[in-house]
Amino acid sequence: MMRVSTITTLICSFVMLLFATVAAADGVDYSQYQVYRFHSHNHSHIIEDVVRGQLGLKTEEYDVWTRNAEFIDVQLPRSINLQGTDVSYEIVIDDLNSAIGETFPLTSTPHHDNYFDIAQDSMVSSGKYFFFKEYRPLKTIYTWLDLLEQSFPHLVTMEDIGTTFEGNPLKVVHISTKNSTMNPESKTIVITGGIHAREWVSISSVLFTIYQLLTKYGKSRRETRYLDSLDFLIIPIFNPDGYNYTWNGDRLWKKNRQDTYVPQCKGIDIDHSFPYQWEDSKEFPCSEEYSGEEALQATEARLWDTFITCMKIKHNIYGYLDFHSYSQEVLYPYAYSCDELPRDYENLLELSYGLSKAIRNKSGKKYKVLAACQDRGSDISSSLGAGTALDYMYHSRAHWAFQLKLRDSGNHGFLLPARHILDVGRETYAAVKYFCDFVLNPEH
Ligand SMILES: [Zn+2]
Repeated sequence: MMRVSTITTLICSFVMLLFATVAAADGVDYSQYQVYRFHSHNHSHIIEDVVRGQLGLKTEEYDVWTRNAEFIDVQLPRSINLQGTDVSYEIVIDDLNSAIGETFPLTSTPHHDNYFDIAQDSMVSSGKYFFFKEYRPLKTIYTWLDLLEQSFPHLVTMEDIGTTFEGNPLKVVHISTKNSTMNPESKTIVITGGIHAREWVSISSVLFTIYQLLTKYGKSRRETRYLDSLDFLIIPIFNPDGYNYTWNGDRLWKKNRQDTYVPQCKGIDIDHSFPYQWEDSKEFPCSEEYSGEEALQATEARLWDTFITCMKIKHNIYGYLDFHSYSQEVLYPYAYSCDELPRDYENLLELSYGLSKAIRNKSGKKYKVLAACQDRGSDISSSLGAGTALDYMYHSRAHWAFQLKLRDSGNHGFLLPARHILDVGRETYAAVKYFCDFVLNPEH
């Protein structure tokens, strides 16, 4: 019985996968844009004086991809002329359309025989990682998660915590042995991915973590201990509307998709919407950093706030990991200001370097450790770090909280080709394991 319904579900999701793949070909054309890297720590000079001033670009004509102490990456029209400016720069992505194309599955794959393997994999843990060979669209991921719940009913409970602006469910994967005597304190780790729609590798890495935890339980001593001693609340796709839109509209969309007071400017940056140190960003709704007109205006932030407030009654939230891309960084609180020192700063630093080291030991990749405020540029403009999930969870919910910005360091940026999914998943999972070990034994 379950097998028949499983096959039906798989075929349906295969059709949806194909549809999403075909639709993606009609997305926004980026042939007239490039991504520039400006070697400067003075970001406001680059944006205010050069991009907006000398080049005369409006908010919707450029897009800041990432910034840190050494550089700032900005997507700009191909037609700009930087001669006569005083800036040092290079072009990091010349052909955005082909970089975008590399992140979508080929239309010829996967065919549905392979798709059936996904279910087989989930159910019997054959060790094949077929599901992680490509990025997957929203409905396929949700179907896959439901299959995991069917395959591991003793470990997984899927919870819909509400509906987004466009009517998609916001799904939480609750992993627990459901035996309260095993975890009397309800020690819980919360993991989120995909708050920003275009950061696909953050979603695939959270899915890989879920898959590893489930398929290794009862087989590996480590995972068995984790699930016996900890609960996990995981949202792999925090921004389902935005993620869906990156598949069938604009691959580089970042915010959610709800209406604002300007009809042609949709979307609030969910990571500026949380009610700790929220600030009106004074940004026009067309901006990628738009925080909304009040805290929790982003539907997803509001649903999460309600859910986690309720969960906190019975769950003791020890840790929070929020995955983003790109930059290869481990960020600790606070994001909103560099002036406020976080509580148990030493532990946070130790954990940050431990997370970074766990990744380096696994893959050789270097992740820099820094305060989130430095990464955000909050010291230059306070609104850049306001209302983040990291600060919100750290301040009132979680003992230890981090944001990890995954690969790469800029060659592909948000457009990391699918061939890297597994490697990034593995190094992310190494960090998650280190985190679990620390939470279970903070004293070592
Ligand atoms: Zn992000």
